[in-house]
Amino acid sequence: EKFVYDFTEGNKDLKDLLGGKGANLAEMTNLGLPVPPGFTITTEACKVYLESGAEPPALRDEVSAHLEALEAKMGKKLGQADDPLLVSVRSGAKFSMPGMMDTVLNIGLSDASVAGLAAQAGDERFAWDSYRRLIQMFGKTVLGVDGDLFEEAIEDAKQAKGVKVDIELDAADLKRLVDRFKGIVSEETGRSFPQDPREQMDLAVCAVFDSWNTDRAKLYRRQERIPGDLGTAVNVCSMVFGNLGPDSGTGVAFTRDPASGRQGVYGDYLQNAQGEDVVAGIRNTVPLAELEQLDKKSYDQLMEIMETLETHYKDLCDIEFTIERGKLWMLQTRVGKRTAGAAFRIATQLVDQGLIDEAEALQRVNGAQLAQLMFPRFDDGAAGKQDLLGRGIAASPGAAVGKAVFDSYTAVKWSRSGEKVILIRRETNPDDLNGMIAAEGILTSRGGKTSHAAVVARGMGKTCVCGAEELEVDTKKRCLSAVAADGKRRVVVEEGDTVSIDGSTGKVYLGEVPVVPSPVVEYFEGRTHAGAETTNPEGDDLVKSVHRMMAYADRVRRLYVRANADNAEDAARARRFGAQGIGLCRTEHMFLGERREMVERLILADTDGERDEALGALLPLQKADFVELFESMDGLPVTVRLLDPPLHEFLPDITELSVRVALAESRKDANENDLRLLQAVHKLHEQNPMLGLRGVRLGLVIPGLFAMQVRGIAEAAAERREAKGDPRAEIMIPLVGTVQELEIVREEAQRVIAEVEAATGTDLALTIGTMIELPRAALTAGQIAEAAEFFSFGTNDLTQTVWGFSRDDVEASFFTAYLEKGIFGVSPFETIDRDGVGSLVRNAVEAGRATRPDIKLGVCGEHGGDPESVHFFHEAGLHYVSCSPFRIPVARLEAGRAAA
Ligand code: PEP
Ligand code: MG
Repeated sequence: EKFVYDFTEGNKDLKDLLGGKGANLAEMTNLGLPVPPGFTITTEACKVYLESGAEPPALRDEVSAHLEALEAKMGKKLGQADDPLLVSVRSGAKFSMPGMMDTVLNIGLSDASVAGLAAQAGDERFAWDSYRRLIQMFGKTVLGVDGDLFEEAIEDAKQAKGVKVDIELDAADLKRLVDRFKGIVSEETGRSFPQDPREQMDLAVCAVFDSWNTDRAKLYRRQERIPGDLGTAVNVCSMVFGNLGPDSGTGVAFTRDPASGRQGVYGDYLQNAQGEDVVAGIRNTVPLAELEQLDKKSYDQLMEIMETLETHYKDLCDIEFTIERGKLWMLQTRVGKRTAGAAFRIATQLVDQGLIDEAEALQRVNGAQLAQLMFPRFDDGAAGKQDLLGRGIAASPGAAVGKAVFDSYTAVKWSRSGEKVILIRRETNPDDLNGMIAAEGILTSRGGKTSHAAVVARGMGKTCVCGAEELEVDTKKRCLSAVAADGKRRVVVEEGDTVSIDGSTGKVYLGEVPVVPSPVVEYFEGRTHAGAETTNPEGDDLVKSVHRMMAYADRVRRLYVRANADNAEDAARARRFGAQGIGLCRTEHMFLGERREMVERLILADTDGERDEALGALLPLQKADFVELFESMDGLPVTVRLLDPPLHEFLPDITELSVRVALAESRKDANENDLRLLQAVHKLHEQNPMLGLRGVRLGLVIPGLFAMQVRGIAEAAAERREAKGDPRAEIMIPLVGTVQELEIVREEAQRVIAEVEAATGTDLALTIGTMIELPRAALTAGQIAEAAEFFSFGTNDLTQTVWGFSRDDVEASFFTAYLEKGIFGVSPFETIDRDGVGSLVRNAVEAGRATRPDIKLGVCGEHGGDPESVHFFHEAGLHYVSCSPFRIPVARLEAGRAAA
């Protein structure tokens, strides 16, 4: 097994083995771009190390061979006293984990070689500063020394000299600082800073391996659903220096704007600095376009390289580069992260440029991004009336409102108790991850579009405004202060005050700004149409892109998309959003409000007469509901589910009623009806109502209930026919566990339908099917299909019963612990559990088809609108998914992506 690859040996498709950074460095090397020579140690080596606690035995020799080749190429040896080769040792996993893992620069410097570096660079200060950086980074990441100790030593040095910034420390100061740093290392670790360059390198490599398993890296992986066993590769790369004077510098660039998707020159440049200075957002950068004035040759070369990369990768690339004394070096590239809006725009732009086809375009966007574009935004009119505190960089779009908090601990604590919070920091670092996850939005006063806060927030789809420099953030006093828009007052925002941040404009407001719907929703609602002139050009070309992507998806998808809707209004919206029918009408929702009492009367009925009377009162109401629903979905299937929930849901709360009756009795004026009601409530009370008298069981024990509902459906269908409509009702029986239950209910339903057909002289073509939402139903689906014309998987109840998880309780009680322990990466109520619930679904599909080849198959649990689950249902061969109206566009897009 080969554990080390030279940059000339790899390519971009070897991300599993070389990590994203290593694979892309190799790709750029082979494209002939100026990449500093180096090699990559594979993720396999990391896995062996993490499993066995030691590097694979062959690794050392392989590294030696590659190091020798590198030294030969560079014409100098690692740490050579008169002219040292220096290297960086950088992590690089398959999936980007910004700032989560370790990097050490300037490996190879020592007491022996620092003078050699000074002589070669002709810059003594630079050499001591480089050595200082090495001991600091090495001490912190490899030896585990508290980084604050080094920072404090720097502060002390500056104070002693009476200066404010690092730059003002000269070679002698830095030399003293190096001594101090070495002292810190000895005091803290009981060993001296290693002077042997190879030892430095080997220790740094192991530290990078170890950094795969830090708490923050693990948390990030769970959040981003990155598997925990991939390991990281390690890139050993010859150093180039951006801090060798004004003709040097470092920067980041994007081939397109990652916020809007527009083509142009986007990025940041920092003169006379090293890469870490930019990413950390510590000093302020200048826009990349200014590089043209500073160094035209490098700028032109960079533009050319960016063009090469975009055409080669056929996508937006982001780039890290360094200029060392007028010579441009590429340090990294990758297909860049982007906002949801940019993803849609870029996908369609690339189609127009002929770089990708429609199927590929669909892989460049996803349902989560579409969902994000459907979030509401701030109302500009109302925002104008709020106190504008300032403006930062629009780093990650969205509108977030919440209480100001100034540290991650408070963010987590407050959000756990149900508060919405905005995390405000001067700048964030990987230790802030918990707080960022807990917050509605993130606001920083420093750092650009590529700062930690911006990159991580974009990745999470979280609203972020960064670099709002006019805001003064004081994390110690827990407040933020700014000059008010009128320029006269100073406004102080204390912890707990409400602020609103707009990640699309970068504006920060004091107080709560009302929000308005997104242009994408307006488009789906039909209030604007693609191509219409709007006053908002941003929204306009976004809507056009979304429109086109939806058209691609609709063209290729095999799954139909229906809505879960129980009233005409939801049905109409669903239809505007592209629903192809209703997959679940929960009839219990038709019995709420004042109708609840009518159900109460049905439940309390002692005699046949009373019961018939109660049912008779409900029938016309049910029928009218169905008429409306069939009308709004004319020509499309409407699956009506007969009553499902436990009856006590229609009765008063047992405790409240008991108290009321007891009080009344003590006053001796207890009312007859309340007493009967209390009796009924006691009789129907269940310890486990979700496993009790509900679903088909209600139909079997309450005479006439299902018959009334079926009659309502049949008569409504007949009435629609009469009105020349095209009703396509499907009657669905819930919570069936055995075919016998279904047969009894089905015979009764057929009798009622036949009666209505005879009375109206119409053939209603109603179909009867069942939900598959109990394990037994899934296991005996072959038998159940004898009596069912369709199956609709109720994955909510199926998940509940397969796992034995109460769907109403567990997410609030122990799911956090399960997620933290990595038992699952996401709640099985949100994304289908493929192995467990999913395997029952597959078996039931197969068994159902074996019995009845033309059986219609769908899903109506919440999973029907979940992107990942939609792919599963596509693979399982269902005909349709059904989800809430708002999720229909997401389901359409994902169904298209699954099929493309
Ligand atoms: C289900 O169980 O998945 C379902 C759709 O039914 P309900 O959520 O109404 O129980
Ligand atoms: Mg159910």
